[in-house]
Amino acid sequence: MSTLLLGAHMSIAGGVSQALDRASSIGSNAVQIFTKNNRQWQGPPVDEVDVVRWQQEMPAQAVDYAVSHASYLINLATPKDPLWQKSIAAHADEIRRAHAYGVPHVVLHPGAHTGSGEEAGIGRIAAGLNQVHAATPACTDTLTLLELMAGQGTTIGYCFSHLRQIIEQVEAPARVGVCVDTCHAFAAGYDLAQAAGYEAMMEELDKEIGLATVKCWHFNDSKGALGSRVDRHVHIGQGAIGNEGFRLILNDSRWAGIAMLLETPKDDDLKDDVLNLARLCELVADPERIPPGLRQA
Ligand SMILES: [Zn+2]
Ligand SMILES: [Zn+2]
Repeated sequence: MSTLLLGAHMSIAGGVSQALDRASSIGSNAVQIFTKNNRQWQGPPVDEVDVVRWQQEMPAQAVDYAVSHASYLINLATPKDPLWQKSIAAHADEIRRAHAYGVPHVVLHPGAHTGSGEEAGIGRIAAGLNQVHAATPACTDTLTLLELMAGQGTTIGYCFSHLRQIIEQVEAPARVGVCVDTCHAFAAGYDLAQAAGYEAMMEELDKEIGLATVKCWHFNDSKGALGSRVDRHVHIGQGAIGNEGFRLILNDSRWAGIAMLLETPKDDDLKDDVLNLARLCELVADPERIPPGLRQA
């Protein structure tokens, strides 16, 4: 089996490409970034000098995979037209930014219907994505990854059926993939903490959208209990999922080549990322698959 792609979400303070330095400083070979401030609608223009640095530093620092995460403000499921239009424009901008850096994937929270109902919300998301795609014809190789959600409030995407229904209504389904977040899955009711529950989840995933649609994992333990729908990330092994769930995914050959990225709590010193990645590496059965920078001396 191939070398694992392991990493964490990293800050872009000082420039987007600085995230690569942070990723490699802790020995990881994959990274998630925001391409701009994630709590603002508008970002500065893409810094072409930083794009060049990114393209040099990715191979130089042995970071083999990068994914961006779209702004938390975007809500393609909203029934309110002004917010919907703003969300379409903002997500198109996210796609263009990722494309400028050569980042192949942009994780997107599908959205919240805020009262209009799930079916209406799903239709809005698909229609919104169709507009995003029409607005970004040069970026067909930059995919939107719909994230599996915990199901808080009126959030859409807490089951694989929702994600399938969205993709079915998209005119260019090849431009859409999926990101599975372990915390969200568990909180949504998928019991990946033990082998039988994990296999049941894999079966449903494969039946609904196909395993190949999954382009990355978010690795977070869950503060909330199974089915609680509470979206609270905690350190690996310290939540309701526990080590076993991560062991199952890490050693499953079906995920060879698919990155696994932490979004667990941390400070600027990245010590928590170091600890969580070390914990994950301890769960890997074949030491040859551990990324070189994370192997113990
Ligand atoms: Zn996530
Ligand atoms: Zn979350």
